[in-house]
Amino acid sequence: MKYAGVIVDISHEKLDKTFQYIIPAELEESVGIGTRVDIPFGKSHRTGYVVEITDTPELEPDRIKPIDGVAKGSVPIDERMIKLAYWMKTNYGSTVIKALQTVIPVKDKVKNAVRKTVSLAVSKDEAAELSQECLSKRRTAQARVLDALIEYGAADASFFTNKLNVGASALKALSENGIIRIEETTVLRNSVNASAKNTAAHKLNPEQQSISDSIISDYDKGDMTPCLIKGITGSGKTEIYMELIAHVTRMGREAIVLIPEIALTYQTVMRFYNRFGDVVSVINSRLSNGEKYDRFCMARDGRIKIMIGPRSALFTPFKNIGLIIIDEEHESAYQSENIPKYHARETAVELARMTGAKVVMGSATPSLEAYYRAKNGIYKLYRLDNRAGEGKLPDVDIVDLREELKKGNRSMFSGRLMELMDDRLKKGEQIMLFLNRRGYQGFINCRDCGEVIECPHCAVSLTLHNNRRLKCHYCGYERENIKICPKCGSKHIGTFKAGTQMAEEELRKYFPAAVTLRMDADTTKGKEGHGKILREFAAKKADVLLGTQMIVKGHDFPDVTLVGVLLADRSLYSSDYRAAENTFELLTQAAGRAGRGKNPGNVVIQTYNPDNYSVVHASKQDYDSFYEEEISYRELMDYPPVSHMMEVRVSSPKEAEAEELSCLVAGISRSAQSFGDTRVIGPADAPINKINDIFHKMIYYKNKSHEDLAHIKDYIEAYLKNNQEKFKNCLVQFDFR
Ligand code: ADP
Ligand code: ZN
Ligand code: ZN
Repeated sequence: MKYAGVIVDISHEKLDKTFQYIIPAELEESVGIGTRVDIPFGKSHRTGYVVEITDTPELEPDRIKPIDGVAKGSVPIDERMIKLAYWMKTNYGSTVIKALQTVIPVKDKVKNAVRKTVSLAVSKDEAAELSQECLSKRRTAQARVLDALIEYGAADASFFTNKLNVGASALKALSENGIIRIEETTVLRNSVNASAKNTAAHKLNPEQQSISDSIISDYDKGDMTPCLIKGITGSGKTEIYMELIAHVTRMGREAIVLIPEIALTYQTVMRFYNRFGDVVSVINSRLSNGEKYDRFCMARDGRIKIMIGPRSALFTPFKNIGLIIIDEEHESAYQSENIPKYHARETAVELARMTGAKVVMGSATPSLEAYYRAKNGIYKLYRLDNRAGEGKLPDVDIVDLREELKKGNRSMFSGRLMELMDDRLKKGEQIMLFLNRRGYQGFINCRDCGEVIECPHCAVSLTLHNNRRLKCHYCGYERENIKICPKCGSKHIGTFKAGTQMAEEELRKYFPAAVTLRMDADTTKGKEGHGKILREFAAKKADVLLGTQMIVKGHDFPDVTLVGVLLADRSLYSSDYRAAENTFELLTQAAGRAGRGKNPGNVVIQTYNPDNYSVVHASKQDYDSFYEEEISYRELMDYPPVSHMMEVRVSSPKEAEAEELSCLVAGISRSAQSFGDTRVIGPADAPINKINDIFHKMIYYKNKSHEDLAHIKDYIEAYLKNNQEKFKNCLVQFDFR
């Protein structure tokens, strides 16, 4: 007799364990690890995943119930994914079922889109007679079908259901009686809408060639140490990735290419299609489940060999993964914001370990984590310090905004920036102006009493849109603009417009002839907003592209010869320990946008902190000097990557409950002696302590050992399990850094 350990498919803490069932003899063939099965559960029936199979019963065999059957329309997951899910649960905190749901991108089989064509199986005369008969028997729907078919001959089934209000049963009855025919044609959702050109590869330059040779030779020897290619933007990393992919696929294995969604541009994707053709597929978060499902099936069946996408592409069910590329490795989007809050980099390394694949990461500004590991020999480090194609590094000016004020310049553009903009507009070259999203806000406050208008549901200020409505970016709350201060009644209640809108107005004032495209959360609402603006700019329909950080990433506009960073500082003041890293990264990436073509580029960085180390090093694109300063700060403060950090977020709609539980959690972990050298900080209010009427408290744990932190997490989880009733309104989330 065989027994299956099944995880019941409900996301509930209480059920987060396996339950044993008998595998009936007739199901032994079809039930394996990963099969989705129907099972009796309590008084009802549910579905679940088989996660283990054994010969040993956990109870008296006659008390174990048999599996009902294989769940209909289910897709089995492979054993490896189950192991990965367990690994994610252990390392990031999650229920097994949530982890499983993460690694199984599409749970249910989605039917292929089928087109059903309906036609008459009898003559028109017969149909007319039958229609009369139907009417007399009050089968009006059937009569409508027949009348329509007499008129049109044939029609799509959806025409009857959508237009004639005919139910499926009427069509079924007619077809069963042999009066109509229903023919099905499958329309397979297509993965590639592009005609692949199979263009020849660039001949790698000597630097690229030596990196590629070295990685390939390690790969062939079976040395799967992860690699980090630190290469400035435009240094030709993508060409190396493609060379590696070509090698791996030639050897019969598959490749996953992770690219942050924001950088997943048409240009990038086309480079892969053009080189590899039909075996390339792309997923992104806008795809429907059906479309994703098709692409994963094609991957499983071997029709796709290369999958490109954001972090969830990691879970492509390839049979024999050889290579995982992580481009723009430093991107924060690689960490999931949903439970389990896995990091794609760590998860990729684990998946590669399980499958014997190689991970190759690339970035111009590696995360401190990755660079630290590379420096400590955990990853192999490669460097590309020159631009591969045309294009030189731009000249960078740092402008001290305090000096501008002294000169009486109150505009958003410094003298230097104005001068360069004027020059580029005259030459017909393009300009990108970049505003840190948090640089300016459209919030309003009272000039007399200082009151800031906040969202009633969140601890954030409302921002003004189109001069009319105040909106909350966190929960979507909206209201009419305020004319009188609700606190003191003053009329001097002012608006600070959103930075991008303000900059647009100034542009119009100083450069009335310039055509400007604005890209921010407001102008990119629609499905295509984002792509449309970028395409227009690429087609040179505008002189200036003005936007928030979304314009900084990954786009390659060869005619941009001037980049202006209007205010570099704001991200320096955030409470996050990575503030300097984020600022350095943004400035470096922004500077990297200039001068990618033939014409030399200029960058102007405007700041109130011209001496800040992240600004200074970014202006020189000097990553290593930045790294040295930053890592000594992290060492001093015990921050990652020198130590590991676990953030515990306790949330509840009742502030007192969140307070009580967070104190208890901090207390039990402080008193427990077995957790080694852990520093516990908090509890304290989260940076935004109320969102959508839910209160948030934070506790931070720092320790050199990740394992110790994972133990603390288990300990807290066990405590919560034992006190479920009391804190049933609270949610506790773990976040590892
Ligand atoms: P990265 O990925 O590091 O930003 P890319 O691979 O996108 O760099 O290369 C930047 C530009 O240089 C691209 O337009 C690319 O086609 C070109 N390029 C890269 N390598 C070569 C090469 N060996 N010969 C000619 N052009 C190259
Ligand atoms: Zn006031
Ligand atoms: Zn709100």
